[in-house]
Formats: sequence, C-alpha cells, structure tokens
Amino acid sequence: MLLTPGPTPIHPDVQKALLSPMRGHLDPEVLAVNRAIQERLRILFDPGEGGLVAALAGSGSLGMEAAFANLAEGPVLVLETGTFSARMAEMSRAHGLETDLLSFPPGEPARLEALKEALRRKRYRLVAAVHGETSTGVLNPVEEMGPLVEEAGALFMVDAVTTLGMLPFSMRRIRADYAFTGSQKCLSAPPGLAPFALSSKGRALLRGGRAWYVDFARVAEHWERGGYHHTTPVLLHYALLAALDRALAEGVEARARRARRVFAWLLEELTGRGFSLYPKESPLPTVLVVRPPRGVEAEALRAALHQEGYTVAGGIGPTRGEVLRLGLMGEQADEEVYRGFLEALDRVLQRRKTRA
Ligand SMILES: *Cc1c(COP(=O)(O)O)cnc(C)c1O
Repeated sequence: MLLTPGPTPIHPDVQKALLSPMRGHLDPEVLAVNRAIQERLRILFDPGEGGLVAALAGSGSLGMEAAFANLAEGPVLVLETGTFSARMAEMSRAHGLETDLLSFPPGEPARLEALKEALRRKRYRLVAAVHGETSTGVLNPVEEMGPLVEEAGALFMVDAVTTLGMLPFSMRRIRADYAFTGSQKCLSAPPGLAPFALSSKGRALLRGGRAWYVDFARVAEHWERGGYHHTTPVLLHYALLAALDRALAEGVEARARRARRVFAWLLEELTGRGFSLYPKESPLPTVLVVRPPRGVEAEALRAALHQEGYTVAGGIGPTRGEVLRLGLMGEQADEEVYRGFLEALDRVLQRRKTRA
C-alpha cells in the first residue's frame, strides 16, 4: 500500500483509462480529451479570463522549472521553508537568474512581515513559494502573500503540488500568476504530467527564447490550437482526465473535509502511540509529518513497515532521518487504509518491545 506523499495509489477507473487503445497525439479524440482536461483544470486552478491551462509531459518538477524558463526576466525571490522551495532556488540559479533566498526555520511557515521587508528592499520580477511544503508538512499562507507580491509589481508563482485538487485553491483569490502540480499527488493519477496554469497577466509578459520543450507559447499552440509541438503521453492524458473527473465529482470542499478528518484522527492515533507532530504550526492536512516515539529510529521503522506491505516516506532535507511522512492525498485519505497501517505499526512496535 502506497502511503507516500506521492506517488499515490490510483483508482480502478484511472487504471482502466490507461488501457485505452493507443491513438496519435493529434487524433481528434485525443485533442478532445485535452480540451476536457483543460476545462477541469480551469475549475481547479481558477486562473481567470485569458489564462493558459495545460499539462506538461513530465513530473511536478518540470512544472516548477518551466516557470523560471518562461517568466523570470529579472531577480527572483524564493521563500524557503524546506526542500521543495530550496529546489525552486536551485532551478532559478540553474537558469542563470539572480536569486535571493528568504529562509524560515524548518517546521514553520513563511512570515508575511519578512516578505514585506524583502519586497521593500528590492524590486523582484518573480516571487516563488510552495503552498504545502512536503518535506516539513507545513501549509504556507499564500492567500496573504499574493496581494503583497502583486502590490510590489512582481509575478507570484505557487507550487500547488500537495494542495491542488485536495484543498481549496484559486489563483484569482491568491493573486497568483502561475501555479502547477504533479499528476501523481492530490489527483491520484499516474506520474508523468505536470498540470499548470498561467494568468493572462503572466501570459502577456512571455518573451520566449530561453526554452523550447516547456516554452509556454509552443505549449499553447498544441493545447489551444491542436498544432504539433511534441509527442504527448496520450494514455497519461486519458488517465489524468479520469482522475480529474473523480476529483470534481467528489468536489474539492468534500475532499478537503476528508483529508482534515483523516489527518485529525490519524494524528490522535499516532500521538497515543508516542509519536509527535513535526510542524510547529500551520500543519498541512495532506501530508502528516510525525517524529517517532522516543528511542524508535525513523528509518528502521520505515523499513519494517515496508516489510508489512506499507510504503511510507522518511524525512528529506531538514527532516532527514527524523520523521515519517504519511500521504493523505487523493485515494490515500481513507480511514480504512490507515486502520490497516496502524495494525501493521502496532505489530512492528510490539516486535521491537519483545526483542528489547
Ligand atoms: C513532489 C513535489 C514536487 C516535485 O514533484 P515531482 O513530481 O517529484 O517532480 C514539488 N513540490 C512539492 C511540494 C512536492 O511535494
């Protein structure tokens, strides 16, 4: 059972979509699937009139890198709250951009006062933040950041990988110009696509020329006009559409309630077994990050759980070796599944005690 914060298990309907007959990437039926994907992504991202929505052929990281290749024509400010925001800074630098890091202690969200101060000191072209920081399990207040960034005249980019499709999200409300996710996280589709949205304002500023594969004008040529750009992973498009249909049939509000409910229950169960919540405040409901009980080594626990059939993630970056990270995205946010996990955990902890 796959309980990592991505990839997530896929529903049989999504699995079935992968068995669709192979068609060409410019087949009218495939172009219709693309349009249906766009319609649904427009609902989830809410980028406003004239925005571009599509899915890049790659994982979430490609959605991240595409922003630096397309939108950053000047200094970039990255709000660093863990591994994935640190990755943004690495990418920005790899693209030769002047990159400033505003770092916050692990387990804490980004602070608005510090952002205000940074925006007063310097004029930025692009400000980048992660909504749900998967390495520490912290939810950042992007709704409050967006207006500050907009007022400072910069574009705002939001990594929505652990939130879009599971928690309420709206680029219009956030005042975000660019947001992206990975198909294998909250949407519970197979990995390999990076759905994204670009606001009309961001779109008007595109210059092109620094990338080819992820050049947004070329991507739009295919997704909006059906022209040839490159060979898209057609079967993954079918599967993504099936996953989007499931997400929208349930509704984001209901999915958010489901994630919060399972999070609260699971945290209580784990606290009762001596675990403690890693984030100091603003926990992300889709990724539960916990420290194991005193004397229990996180990586050994993870290996023992894997033997029991439950794959969970250990720490990365600031949490390396210190925590377990449990996904509550898409199909994973399910009490039944986690009841089985808790039984396996009890067997593992019991065996440890007997040995000691
Ligand atoms: C998983 C993740 C990514 C990277 O996605 P990949 O699909 O592994 O490339 C980026 N940001 C966040 C917050 C993530 O959780």
